[in-house]
Amino acid sequence: MREDHLGRFQMLWDCPFCGSEKLLGLDHRHCPGCGSPQAADKRYYPPEGEEIAVEDHPFHGADRVCPACQTPMSKAADFCGSCGSPMDEAAAAKLKAEARPALPAPAPEPAPKKKGLAAFLGLGCVLTVFGALALFCLVAVFWKKEAGVTVTGHSWARSIAVEQQAKVSEKAWKEDVPAGASGVSCSKEQKSTKRVQSGEECTTVRKDKGDGTYDKVNECKPTYKEEPVYGERCSYSVMKWQTRRTETAGGTSTGDTIAWPVVRLGAGEREGARSEDYTVRFRLDDGKDGSCSTTQQRWASLSPGSTWTAKVSVIGGGIDFEALSPR
Ligand SMILES: [Zn+2]
Ligand SMILES: [Zn+2]
Repeated sequence: MREDHLGRFQMLWDCPFCGSEKLLGLDHRHCPGCGSPQAADKRYYPPEGEEIAVEDHPFHGADRVCPACQTPMSKAADFCGSCGSPMDEAAAAKLKAEARPALPAPAPEPAPKKKGLAAFLGLGCVLTVFGALALFCLVAVFWKKEAGVTVTGHSWARSIAVEQQAKVSEKAWKEDVPAGASGVSCSKEQKSTKRVQSGEECTTVRKDKGDGTYDKVNECKPTYKEEPVYGERCSYSVMKWQTRRTETAGGTSTGDTIAWPVVRLGAGEREGARSEDYTVRFRLDDGKDGSCSTTQQRWASLSPGSTWTAKVSVIGGGIDFEALSPR
Protein backbone atom coordinates (compact mmCIF):
# COMPACT_ATOMS: atom_id res chain seq x y z
CA MET A 1 0.00 0.00 0.00
CA ARG A 2 1.26 3.47 -0.93
CA GLU A 3 0.93 6.37 1.55
CA ASP A 4 1.02 10.01 0.46
CA HIS A 5 1.62 12.44 3.30
CA LEU A 6 -0.81 15.35 2.85
CA GLY A 7 0.36 17.45 5.79
CA ARG A 8 0.21 17.92 9.55
CA PHE A 9 -2.64 19.75 11.26
CA GLN A 10 -3.74 20.84 14.75
CA MET A 11 -6.17 18.77 16.76
CA LEU A 12 -8.87 20.84 18.48
CA TRP A 13 -10.25 20.89 22.02
CA ASP A 14 -13.07 22.65 23.88
CA CYS A 15 -12.54 24.14 27.31
CA PRO A 16 -14.90 22.42 29.79
CA PHE A 17 -14.70 25.31 32.26
CA CYS A 18 -15.48 28.45 30.24
CA GLY A 19 -16.96 26.93 27.10
CA SER A 20 -14.32 28.22 24.66
CA GLU A 21 -14.49 26.04 21.55
CA LYS A 22 -12.09 24.87 18.85
CA LEU A 23 -8.95 25.64 20.80
CA LEU A 24 -5.73 24.47 19.12
CA GLY A 25 -4.21 21.22 20.32
CA LEU A 26 -0.62 22.29 19.77
CA ASP A 27 -0.68 26.08 20.37
CA HIS A 28 -3.24 26.29 23.21
CA ARG A 29 -1.81 24.19 26.00
CA HIS A 30 -3.97 26.35 28.28
CA CYS A 31 -7.35 27.88 27.55
CA PRO A 32 -6.84 31.47 26.34
CA GLY A 33 -10.17 32.35 27.95
CA CYS A 34 -9.75 31.06 31.53
CA GLY A 35 -6.27 29.55 31.76
CA SER A 36 -7.46 25.95 32.41
CA PRO A 37 -5.02 23.31 31.22
CA GLN A 38 -5.85 21.39 28.04
CA ALA A 39 -7.35 17.92 28.58
CA ALA A 40 -5.49 15.63 26.18
CA ASP A 41 -8.32 13.09 26.07
CA LYS A 42 -10.81 15.74 24.89
CA ARG A 43 -8.94 16.49 21.63
CA TYR A 44 -10.89 15.97 18.43
CA TYR A 45 -10.40 16.18 14.68
CA PRO A 46 -11.57 19.49 13.14
CA PRO A 47 -14.55 19.52 10.80
CA GLU A 48 -13.89 19.59 7.05
CA GLY A 49 -12.63 22.99 5.87
CA GLU A 50 -11.44 24.12 9.34
CA GLU A 51 -8.05 22.49 9.30
CA ILE A 52 -5.11 24.49 10.59
CA ALA A 53 -1.77 23.34 9.21
CA VAL A 54 1.26 22.98 11.43
CA GLU A 55 4.48 24.27 9.84
CA ASP A 56 7.95 23.11 10.90
CA HIS A 57 6.81 21.64 14.17
CA PRO A 58 9.38 19.15 15.47
CA PHE A 59 7.69 15.91 16.44
CA HIS A 60 9.02 14.52 19.73
CA GLY A 61 6.42 11.82 20.13
CA ALA A 62 2.96 11.68 21.71
CA ASP A 63 2.47 14.04 24.68
CA ARG A 64 2.71 12.84 28.23
CA VAL A 65 -0.01 13.76 30.68
CA CYS A 66 1.16 15.33 33.97
CA PRO A 67 0.35 12.81 36.73
CA ALA A 68 -0.38 15.64 39.19
CA CYS A 69 -2.53 18.12 37.24
CA GLN A 70 -3.42 16.19 34.01
CA THR A 71 -1.92 18.87 31.72
CA PRO A 72 -0.59 17.37 28.48
CA MET A 73 3.09 18.23 28.03
CA SER A 74 5.42 17.75 25.08
CA LYS A 75 7.40 14.55 25.41
CA ALA A 76 10.54 16.73 25.36
CA ALA A 77 9.53 18.44 28.68
CA ASP A 78 11.13 17.15 31.90
CA PHE A 79 8.80 19.07 34.23
CA CYS A 80 5.14 20.06 34.02
CA GLY A 81 4.79 23.63 32.75
CA SER A 82 1.60 24.01 34.75
CA CYS A 83 2.45 22.67 38.22
CA GLY A 84 6.18 21.85 38.05
CA SER A 85 5.83 18.10 38.78
CA PRO A 86 8.53 15.86 37.27
CA MET A 87 7.28 14.22 34.03
CA ASP A 88 9.46 11.07 33.99
CA GLU A 89 6.65 8.82 35.33
CA ALA A 90 3.92 10.38 33.19
CA ALA A 91 1.83 8.24 30.84
CA ALA A 92 1.54 8.97 27.12
CA ALA A 93 -1.62 10.73 25.99
CA LYS A 94 -4.23 8.43 24.45
CA LEU A 95 -4.49 8.72 20.65
CA LYS A 96 -7.79 9.57 18.99
CA ALA A 97 -8.78 6.88 16.59
CA GLU A 98 -10.54 7.90 13.45
CA ALA A 99 -13.06 5.57 11.99
CA ARG A 100 -11.83 4.91 8.49
CA PRO A 101 -14.34 5.61 5.79
CA ALA A 102 -15.21 2.38 4.03
CA LEU A 103 -13.65 1.95 0.60
CA PRO A 104 -16.11 2.71 -2.17
CA ALA A 105 -17.84 -0.56 -2.92
CA PRO A 106 -17.30 -1.86 -6.46
CA ALA A 107 -20.39 -1.47 -8.60
CA PRO A 108 -22.43 -4.67 -8.27
CA GLU A 109 -22.39 -6.66 -11.50
CA PRO A 110 -25.94 -7.16 -12.70
CA ALA A 111 -25.93 -10.94 -12.73
CA PRO A 112 -28.20 -12.27 -15.46
CA LYS A 113 -30.89 -14.18 -13.63
CA LYS A 114 -31.25 -16.91 -16.24
CA LYS A 115 -27.57 -17.76 -16.11
CA GLY A 116 -27.62 -17.94 -12.32
CA LEU A 117 -30.62 -20.25 -12.42
CA ALA A 118 -28.99 -22.46 -15.06
CA ALA A 119 -25.81 -22.69 -13.02
CA PHE A 120 -27.87 -23.57 -9.96
CA LEU A 121 -29.85 -26.23 -11.81
CA GLY A 122 -26.68 -27.60 -13.37
CA LEU A 123 -25.08 -27.95 -9.97
CA GLY A 124 -28.25 -29.50 -8.63
CA CYS A 125 -28.24 -32.09 -11.39
CA VAL A 126 -24.59 -32.94 -10.89
CA LEU A 127 -25.18 -33.34 -7.18
CA THR A 128 -28.24 -35.48 -7.75
CA VAL A 129 -26.49 -37.74 -10.26
CA PHE A 130 -23.45 -38.00 -8.06
CA GLY A 131 -25.59 -38.68 -5.03
CA ALA A 132 -27.58 -41.36 -6.84
CA LEU A 133 -24.40 -42.94 -8.17
CA ALA A 134 -22.77 -42.98 -4.77
CA LEU A 135 -25.87 -44.53 -3.26
CA PHE A 136 -26.03 -47.19 -5.99
CA CYS A 137 -22.38 -48.13 -5.46
CA LEU A 138 -22.85 -48.41 -1.73
CA VAL A 139 -25.85 -50.67 -2.21
CA ALA A 140 -24.07 -52.72 -4.86
CA VAL A 141 -21.10 -53.28 -2.61
CA PHE A 142 -22.81 -53.84 0.71
CA TRP A 143 -26.32 -55.08 0.00
CA LYS A 144 -25.82 -58.66 -1.07
CA LYS A 145 -27.62 -61.93 -0.66
CA GLU A 146 -26.28 -65.44 -0.76
CA ALA A 147 -27.26 -67.51 -3.80
CA GLY A 148 -26.46 -70.87 -5.35
CA VAL A 149 -24.58 -70.58 -8.63
CA THR A 150 -23.68 -73.11 -11.37
CA VAL A 151 -20.89 -72.48 -13.89
CA THR A 152 -22.43 -72.86 -17.36
CA GLY A 153 -19.70 -71.76 -19.74
CA HIS A 154 -16.38 -70.10 -20.44
CA SER A 155 -14.94 -67.86 -23.09
CA TRP A 156 -11.58 -66.25 -23.56
CA ALA A 157 -10.22 -63.71 -26.01
CA ARG A 158 -6.81 -62.25 -26.67
CA SER A 159 -6.10 -59.50 -29.13
CA ILE A 160 -3.16 -57.55 -30.52
CA ALA A 161 -3.61 -54.24 -32.30
CA VAL A 162 -1.69 -53.71 -35.55
CA GLU A 163 -0.63 -50.13 -36.14
CA GLN A 164 0.46 -48.14 -39.14
CA GLN A 165 1.61 -44.55 -39.51
CA ALA A 166 -1.16 -42.34 -40.81
CA LYS A 167 -1.76 -38.65 -41.25
CA VAL A 168 -3.96 -37.14 -38.53
CA SER A 169 -5.24 -33.60 -38.12
CA GLU A 170 -4.59 -31.93 -34.80
CA LYS A 171 -4.72 -28.54 -33.10
CA ALA A 172 -2.23 -27.13 -30.63
CA TRP A 173 -0.72 -23.88 -29.43
CA LYS A 174 2.18 -22.87 -31.65
CA GLU A 175 4.84 -23.75 -29.07
CA ASP A 176 3.38 -27.29 -28.80
CA VAL A 177 3.21 -28.08 -32.52
CA PRO A 178 5.37 -31.20 -32.93
CA ALA A 179 8.41 -31.23 -35.16
CA GLY A 180 7.52 -32.83 -38.49
CA ALA A 181 4.04 -31.30 -38.60
CA SER A 182 2.88 -30.30 -42.09
CA GLY A 183 0.28 -27.88 -43.37
CA VAL A 184 0.61 -25.69 -40.26
CA SER A 185 -1.92 -22.85 -40.21
CA CYS A 186 -2.24 -20.56 -37.19
CA SER A 187 -4.54 -17.80 -36.03
CA LYS A 188 -4.79 -15.59 -32.96
CA GLU A 189 -6.94 -16.99 -30.15
CA GLN A 190 -7.37 -16.21 -26.47
CA LYS A 191 -5.19 -18.54 -24.47
CA SER A 192 -5.64 -17.40 -20.89
CA THR A 193 -6.09 -14.32 -18.74
CA LYS A 194 -3.66 -12.40 -16.60
CA ARG A 195 -4.14 -10.00 -13.71
CA VAL A 196 -2.93 -6.48 -14.42
CA GLN A 197 -3.14 -3.30 -12.37
CA SER A 198 -6.04 -1.14 -13.53
CA GLY A 199 -5.52 1.80 -11.19
CA GLU A 200 -5.70 2.51 -7.48
CA GLU A 201 -8.25 3.12 -4.82
CA CYS A 202 -7.34 5.86 -2.34
CA THR A 203 -8.75 6.77 1.05
CA THR A 204 -7.77 9.80 3.10
CA VAL A 205 -7.18 8.97 6.76
CA ARG A 206 -6.22 11.11 9.74
CA LYS A 207 -3.71 9.84 12.28
CA ASP A 208 -3.48 11.39 15.74
CA LYS A 209 0.18 12.01 16.60
CA GLY A 210 -0.70 12.51 20.28
CA ASP A 211 1.06 15.87 20.67
CA GLY A 212 -1.91 18.02 19.68
CA THR A 213 -1.42 17.40 15.97
CA TYR A 214 -2.47 14.83 13.42
CA ASP A 215 -1.21 13.68 10.02
CA LYS A 216 -3.41 13.54 6.98
CA VAL A 217 -2.44 10.61 4.79
CA ASN A 218 -3.73 9.33 1.46
CA GLU A 219 -3.62 5.53 1.57
CA CYS A 220 -3.72 3.99 -1.88
CA LYS A 221 -4.19 0.35 -2.82
CA PRO A 222 -3.74 -0.90 -6.37
CA THR A 223 -6.80 -2.31 -8.11
CA TYR A 224 -6.60 -5.11 -10.68
CA LYS A 225 -8.47 -6.42 -13.68
CA GLU A 226 -8.27 -9.53 -15.82
CA GLU A 227 -6.85 -9.10 -19.29
CA PRO A 228 -6.92 -11.68 -22.07
CA VAL A 229 -3.67 -13.28 -23.17
CA TYR A 230 -3.54 -14.28 -26.81
CA GLY A 231 -1.60 -17.06 -28.45
CA GLU A 232 -1.26 -18.64 -31.86
CA ARG A 233 -3.60 -21.60 -32.25
CA CYS A 234 -2.44 -23.88 -35.04
CA SER A 235 -3.99 -26.70 -36.97
CA TYR A 236 -1.67 -29.10 -38.75
CA SER A 237 -1.20 -32.66 -39.96
CA VAL A 238 1.23 -35.07 -38.41
CA MET A 239 2.08 -38.75 -38.93
CA LYS A 240 1.03 -40.90 -35.98
CA TRP A 241 0.77 -44.61 -35.20
CA GLN A 242 -2.88 -45.57 -35.64
CA THR A 243 -4.61 -48.90 -35.08
CA ARG A 244 -5.34 -50.35 -38.55
CA ARG A 245 -6.65 -53.75 -37.59
CA THR A 246 -6.81 -56.11 -34.60
CA GLU A 247 -5.71 -59.74 -34.64
CA THR A 248 -7.72 -61.89 -32.24
CA ALA A 249 -7.64 -65.40 -30.82
CA GLY A 250 -10.27 -66.97 -28.60
CA GLY A 251 -12.20 -70.00 -27.49
CA THR A 252 -14.86 -71.32 -25.17
CA SER A 253 -13.13 -74.07 -23.21
CA THR A 254 -10.82 -74.21 -20.20
CA GLY A 255 -9.12 -77.03 -22.10
CA ASP A 256 -7.95 -74.63 -24.85
CA THR A 257 -4.29 -73.79 -25.26
CA ILE A 258 -4.45 -70.11 -24.54
CA ALA A 259 -2.08 -68.16 -26.75
CA TRP A 260 -1.68 -64.77 -28.37
CA PRO A 261 -2.85 -64.50 -31.99
CA VAL A 262 -0.19 -64.83 -34.68
CA VAL A 263 0.49 -61.43 -36.18
CA ARG A 264 1.90 -61.05 -39.70
CA LEU A 265 3.11 -57.53 -40.10
CA GLY A 266 2.90 -55.84 -43.49
CA ALA A 267 5.15 -53.04 -44.71
CA GLY A 268 5.18 -50.09 -42.29
CA GLU A 269 3.22 -51.97 -39.61
CA ARG A 270 4.04 -52.64 -35.98
CA GLU A 271 2.36 -54.38 -33.05
CA GLY A 272 0.32 -52.14 -30.76
CA ALA A 273 -1.50 -52.73 -27.50
CA ARG A 274 -2.47 -56.23 -26.29
CA SER A 275 -5.60 -57.07 -24.34
CA GLU A 276 -7.09 -60.23 -22.89
CA ASP A 277 -10.41 -61.22 -21.36
CA TYR A 278 -11.61 -64.30 -19.48
CA THR A 279 -15.37 -64.56 -18.98
CA VAL A 280 -17.31 -67.11 -16.98
CA ARG A 281 -21.05 -67.61 -17.54
CA PHE A 282 -23.22 -68.87 -14.73
CA ARG A 283 -26.81 -69.57 -13.82
CA LEU A 284 -28.33 -68.64 -10.49
CA ASP A 285 -30.59 -71.18 -8.75
CA ASP A 286 -33.56 -68.96 -9.58
CA GLY A 287 -32.81 -69.43 -13.32
CA LYS A 288 -31.23 -66.08 -14.09
CA ASP A 289 -28.12 -66.07 -16.29
CA GLY A 290 -25.12 -63.83 -15.85
CA SER A 291 -21.48 -63.52 -16.69
CA CYS A 292 -18.35 -62.05 -15.20
CA SER A 293 -14.82 -61.25 -16.33
CA THR A 294 -12.08 -62.51 -14.06
CA THR A 295 -8.40 -63.42 -14.04
CA GLN A 296 -7.09 -66.24 -16.21
CA GLN A 297 -6.20 -68.30 -13.16
CA ARG A 298 -9.62 -67.96 -11.55
CA TRP A 299 -11.36 -68.54 -14.90
CA ALA A 300 -9.48 -71.86 -15.33
CA SER A 301 -10.27 -72.98 -11.77
CA LEU A 302 -14.07 -72.69 -12.18
CA SER A 303 -14.78 -75.98 -13.95
CA PRO A 304 -17.96 -76.30 -16.04
CA GLY A 305 -20.95 -77.57 -14.04
CA SER A 306 -19.37 -76.83 -10.66
CA THR A 307 -21.66 -75.25 -8.06
CA TRP A 308 -20.87 -72.51 -5.59
CA THR A 309 -22.39 -70.27 -3.01
CA ALA A 310 -21.91 -66.70 -4.16
CA LYS A 311 -22.71 -63.30 -2.81
CA VAL A 312 -25.01 -61.69 -5.34
CA SER A 313 -25.66 -57.99 -5.53
CA VAL A 314 -29.36 -57.30 -5.19
CA ILE A 315 -29.24 -54.46 -7.68
CA GLY A 316 -27.95 -55.54 -11.09
CA GLY A 317 -27.67 -59.18 -10.02
CA GLY A 318 -23.87 -59.09 -10.41
CA ILE A 319 -21.82 -61.79 -8.79
CA ASP A 320 -18.87 -61.12 -6.58
CA PHE A 321 -16.44 -63.81 -7.62
CA GLU A 322 -14.06 -63.07 -4.79
CA ALA A 323 -16.77 -64.28 -2.40
CA LEU A 324 -17.41 -67.67 -4.02
CA SER A 325 -17.34 -70.61 -1.64
CA PRO A 326 -17.81 -74.32 -2.41
CA ARG A 327 -21.20 -75.85 -1.68
ZN1 LIG B 1 -11.49 28.08 29.42
ZN1 LIG C 1 1.24 19.35 36.25
